[in-house]
Amino acid sequence: MKIALLLTGNELMSGDTVDTNSSYLAQSLKDLGLIPAIKQVVGDDLELLTYSIKDLASRSDILVINGGLGPTVDDLTAVALARASQSELVSHSVAMTHLQEWADRRGFTLTPSNLKQANLPVTCDVIPNPNGSAVGFSLVLNDCLVLCTPGVPSEFKPMVENEVLPRIRKHAGIRGETKISRLRLFGISESGLQDIIDAEFPEWPSNVELGFRVQLPVLELKVATIGQALDKLNEHWTERLKTRFSDNYLGDNDMTLARAHNSALQNNGLCVVTAESCTGGLIASQITSEAGSSNVFRAGYVVYSNEMKESMLGVQAQTLDRVGAVSEETVLEMAKGALKLSNADLAVAVSGIAGPDGGTPDKPVGTVYIAFGSASDLRVRKLFLPMHRVMFQRMVTAFSLDLLRRFVSSITTDVDYYSELRRKT
Ligand code: AMP
Ligand code: MG
Repeated sequence: MKIALLLTGNELMSGDTVDTNSSYLAQSLKDLGLIPAIKQVVGDDLELLTYSIKDLASRSDILVINGGLGPTVDDLTAVALARASQSELVSHSVAMTHLQEWADRRGFTLTPSNLKQANLPVTCDVIPNPNGSAVGFSLVLNDCLVLCTPGVPSEFKPMVENEVLPRIRKHAGIRGETKISRLRLFGISESGLQDIIDAEFPEWPSNVELGFRVQLPVLELKVATIGQALDKLNEHWTERLKTRFSDNYLGDNDMTLARAHNSALQNNGLCVVTAESCTGGLIASQITSEAGSSNVFRAGYVVYSNEMKESMLGVQAQTLDRVGAVSEETVLEMAKGALKLSNADLAVAVSGIAGPDGGTPDKPVGTVYIAFGSASDLRVRKLFLPMHRVMFQRMVTAFSLDLLRRFVSSITTDVDYYSELRRKT
């Protein structure tokens, strides 16, 4: 089964857009046991596109085209496919209905450029796109199944899952359903995970395939089996992994640290206040980006300067003079001040050196203190995360959320976040 990918768009050629769609599709195809044989990227050039479609279709069983479905003159996929398949370009009634409904929902009137998106090769089938104006479409050219998909990732990804993969599965004659369980973990490395699995599950069955994917800050562990007969086996081993790694397990599929944190708090009827320096509000932002956050989030203070740490949260001037803003004492006082002001049950307070400047020999760039817990049980964790500023902020946020999640879930095992980095302190 030969699969070809054709990506179109000047923005991909110029480097303005990084092609993430083809890796997304390739990852999804891997779950079906398929790997593309060839991948081409072509600019918005009608002749080249037509040539590539003909060429790739003559050499493959399946061709997935991505991009060029938009309303502007540089979106040429439908015209190129019509030329390559020598079919007429017509205003397609299914696509027209889709466009009309899309416009009605928004109270728009369709413009001539919008209408262009309904002009498709006469012989094609429309692939529904509930997330945008451009429908996908497919036809068979020289025995090759050609599938055209939108470039916008938020439209492309659901189309892949719901429409493209089932069509590919059918065309490729893949009968056994693949069952995939995806666990999201935090606070353990890929190698740490693999070592424990090797040591503690020597009887791991060869027909239950494991896959690891780092999706910073979390790690995804995939358990895959092919064929319905193995569904139960998949569930059994997935459950064993969840039990073994229960401290690290956040949830399934697209679970985030913030959502896992919020539900841990909600399950315990607790609410939190944040007092942030080096993360500039990112912890509060991630907590509140999850639906239902008002049940668990009380307030967030961003206190960047020493003056504000003093005047807003009551950090002592002597503390700042004696041990500095990046210290155990300061984050403890920030947390206490925030708890008092907000009446929240829990607090998290962070202060660190994001860099690139501001490091000293005893507090190098990457040093961070995180205070977390309740008024009667406030704890501090010092971490060393020498990395780019934005990544530093993301990781401090991740560790803060995880420390609170563990605190409220009464997880007592000590987590060794990036011990190799901390050892340098
Ligand atoms: P189009 O379907 O060509 O109108 O694409 C619309 C937008 O999708 C482009 O402006 C890009 O921002 C984005 N896009 C197109 N191709 C890709 C790709 N291969 N990976 C990620 N984003 C893409
Ligand atoms: Mg384009």
